[in-house]
Amino acid sequence: MKASRYNHLCAIRNGRIILAYNSYSGAVAEIESENYPVVRKILDAPNAVYEGEAASFLQCLRDGGFLIPDGIDQRSALRVKARSDRLEGTILTLTIAPTLACNFSCDYCFESRTGGRMSEPTQEALLAFVDRYLYRADGLRICWFGGEPTLCLPIIERLQREFAELTRKHRLTLYPGMIITNGYLLDAAMARQLKELGVAQAQVTLDGPRSVHDSRRKLKNGRGTFDRILDNLCAVAGILKINIRINIDKDNVDSAYEVVELLQSRQVLDKVNITFAPITPSGSVCSDIIERCHDNEEFAGALTRTYRRLLERGIRQVTFPRPSSGAACGAIAEGYFVVSPTGHLFKCWEDLSLDGAKWVGDIFSSQPSEQQLANLRAYQSWQPLGLTECRDCSVLPICMGGCPARGLEKPSATCGSCVTWKHNLGELLDLAYASANASPSNPNRGS
Ligand code: SF4
Ligand code: SF4
Repeated sequence: MKASRYNHLCAIRNGRIILAYNSYSGAVAEIESENYPVVRKILDAPNAVYEGEAASFLQCLRDGGFLIPDGIDQRSALRVKARSDRLEGTILTLTIAPTLACNFSCDYCFESRTGGRMSEPTQEALLAFVDRYLYRADGLRICWFGGEPTLCLPIIERLQREFAELTRKHRLTLYPGMIITNGYLLDAAMARQLKELGVAQAQVTLDGPRSVHDSRRKLKNGRGTFDRILDNLCAVAGILKINIRINIDKDNVDSAYEVVELLQSRQVLDKVNITFAPITPSGSVCSDIIERCHDNEEFAGALTRTYRRLLERGIRQVTFPRPSSGAACGAIAEGYFVVSPTGHLFKCWEDLSLDGAKWVGDIFSSQPSEQQLANLRAYQSWQPLGLTECRDCSVLPICMGGCPARGLEKPSATCGSCVTWKHNLGELLDLAYASANASPSNPNRGS
């Protein structure tokens, strides 16, 4: 036996409790401080003979993956899993932008906001592309994106119905779809229509209380959008599965948590998932906001403070980190593409534009150009275990190198795009523990 390289031991509650967390298995163990010397001894010398209580501790450590057989190389296992997950069991996963146009004018938007709607011939070509691809796929999953996809509901309706037809023809599963929307037009009637079409989940963004949100996410005519989005969320939360994304930068870092309080006061908090995300400058469109973006370590601190503020108000949001299923992002999977309104294929929605620099192909032809092939191969060959810092990183199983697009932006770097856990694992474990113990029914309670 030997100790896993992915063990983390964090003292919390002024050292009265030690939390043992293993980022490979995801197991969490609570150790009373008086038992810690014995546990430490077992981890340091797992092959010694232990009896009584020490023997039961040893068994717990084995069960949680804190101790593993000598012959197991977890890093190699991660490398193999990362490789196989991107090749095996291909589900054709398309993020489709039927338009890049939007009814909002957000100050940090990375989209070029150009282009019309997906034309009839392009829709036909997309259906033919999906039909061809499904001969070698195991299923189809669709995410609607933009611009603002709800501006193109007739296109969504037509294509969702045709996709269902195609998966029936190929005897494959059309997985429940998702839409990423600003939420302004997503009322109950639209939510019911989307659900009937097989779009079961929506991601909507709120960036703070009304004054903050409305200063950043306005309509094109400058009017605010907060009240209508909040009303819509209350109306659709029982119809669609809702994820609310709260973007954080230096300007709203102290008020972002208020959104969660508001959702609680409107009695929808228990019907939605919340994700706090950093605002990141992306290409020329966003270069003017770089000053207010957090770097990774700053964002980790901002996230910790936000969760702490919420916990102080009795709202539990933080969860124990889960080991990644193999890759941090679908972009590196073989059957994952972002489709532009003109039918061009990309690997990441942050690459989505009409200038062709990041295209990896198009739906009209099976012969990508040299440049498109090079772009595609860059994603396909992205391997965090080839980077020196990632290889030795103790949170590799919950990060797997992070966002590949950001990793590819810095070809000579020694690490990918680090998850916040790298910087705040101890604090977030402490908060997750406090959160889990605030209610015995919390599903994130550690094992
Ligand atoms: S590659 Fe990065 S930016 Fe692109 S979809 Fe994946 S996580 Fe997002
Ligand atoms: S990107 Fe950073 S946090 Fe992620 S595995 Fe690599 S070094 Fe660790």
